[in-house]
Amino acid sequence: MPKLSVPWENAFAALGNTFSTPVMPEPLPNPRWVAWDAGCAQRLGLQGDAEDFLPLCAGQQIWPGSEPRAMVYSGHQFGHWAGQLGDGRGILLGDLATTPPLDIHLKGAGRTPYSRFGDGRAVLRSCIREYLASRALAGLGIPSSQALGVVVGDEPVQRECTESRAILVRVAKTHLRFGSFEHFFYRNNTQALHQLADFCLARYWPDAPKGVEGYRYLFEACVTATAQMIAAWQAVGFAHGVMNTDNMSLLGETFDYGPYGFMETYDPSFICNHSDDTGRYAFDQQPGVGLWNLQALAHALSPLIPVSQLQETLGRYQPTLVDTYAQWMRKKMGLTQAHENDQPLCSQWLQLLQAAGLDYHLSFHALAGLPQGQDSLLTLVPEAQKASCEAFIRAYGDRLAAEPGAAQAQLQCLREHNPVYVLRNYLAQEAIEAAQAGDFTVVAELAERVSAPFTAVPGQEKYAEPAPAWASELHVSCSS
Ligand code: AMP
Ligand code: MG
Repeated sequence: MPKLSVPWENAFAALGNTFSTPVMPEPLPNPRWVAWDAGCAQRLGLQGDAEDFLPLCAGQQIWPGSEPRAMVYSGHQFGHWAGQLGDGRGILLGDLATTPPLDIHLKGAGRTPYSRFGDGRAVLRSCIREYLASRALAGLGIPSSQALGVVVGDEPVQRECTESRAILVRVAKTHLRFGSFEHFFYRNNTQALHQLADFCLARYWPDAPKGVEGYRYLFEACVTATAQMIAAWQAVGFAHGVMNTDNMSLLGETFDYGPYGFMETYDPSFICNHSDDTGRYAFDQQPGVGLWNLQALAHALSPLIPVSQLQETLGRYQPTLVDTYAQWMRKKMGLTQAHENDQPLCSQWLQLLQAAGLDYHLSFHALAGLPQGQDSLLTLVPEAQKASCEAFIRAYGDRLAAEPGAAQAQLQCLREHNPVYVLRNYLAQEAIEAAQAGDFTVVAELAERVSAPFTAVPGQEKYAEPAPAWASELHVSCSS
């Protein structure tokens, strides 16, 4: 039997049946590993090979010491109160006494009391997408749930067409969501709200004050982490796609990936989810939606924290987001110091990208060597934008002159903050199609590239290419 070097704690299970329900996974027949993240295995303290852990991760055996449970939560979906949701196809195996404590969760492990009309299954396509995204976000330095890997088995699942059933072995600091608190608030269960908040403080913020001060600390930590996470998404061009309150981690980790997308041509109104008709979760809406979601959480916490304190804490969201975004963008522009006119310079740059229809990621690399090597940027820009491009190059040149380091410092800063490898939709699609045909090597190779995205690897140029024409036909939706 494979071993863990740290014990299961099952701290969440110990809270009892108000918060979750014991449930056993439905085994995945004839399982195979599609992807395995050795770094994640190490962080979990797993001792053994991937194959040793396969029956445990495919729901065929129960991990000795774990207490599998489906968690209950509710949430606002697309701006509307959706009532009770819960783990309809996910099972929390338990939490480990690692530092920090980590949850292991099987997504796609079968029906639970919260499945409603769903089949409890996840398909290979969506598990691969979540696996790749969690590697990519972590690679970019953005907090995210992780995944030990993806297992596929011989069980057909009906979506738009017949697909293969798979399980994503998700690892996260918490599986508690904003909707976990909303659930008890809307049921008028203040005692459970207290219990849940006390559990979070003991587990995630053991040094926090006790009582109301502690609850306020919890909310403030959530506001700060959420603002920082969303600022980082905006800087790297990531759109989550389904920012419902049940998909927002209490600890500000990017969580529950569905129809997400990395923006390619710079367009602030980019909508990654084909089912999002109104653009509620469009790229440029994300900062506002983050605040909307935190307001929903604040409302749910109102029996624990005075409203004036909740409002004051919510007031910290925007400055944190703006400040964090400015720090990311400055570095992406190769600037090592903060100057007061950086914000207008950044806006000028983004306006140029939008007007010229340039690729968000490749364009930052074209800042290298400016202002001397201005030809490389000018050649990317259509005739109509040449004048504004020249104006930007002059402004950028003036700004660079105020930097302490030589051109070398700018180059290094650009290289360290602009990825060579971006998880473009078409790359994920190629990896999925290869895996569906039985070849798992593309998933592994792409995962390696996007998890170390700033390091160019000779021979791997194909992963650094912009999307081919056929990619414009790709649509991702909520189907998973
Ligand atoms: P999601 O859109 O994946 O965040 O899921 C929203 C809610 O629907 C959660 O309660 C999920 O557990 C549930 N759900 C999604 N897909 C399924 C499925 N195939 N079977 C059962 N429940 C599901
Ligand atoms: Mg969800």
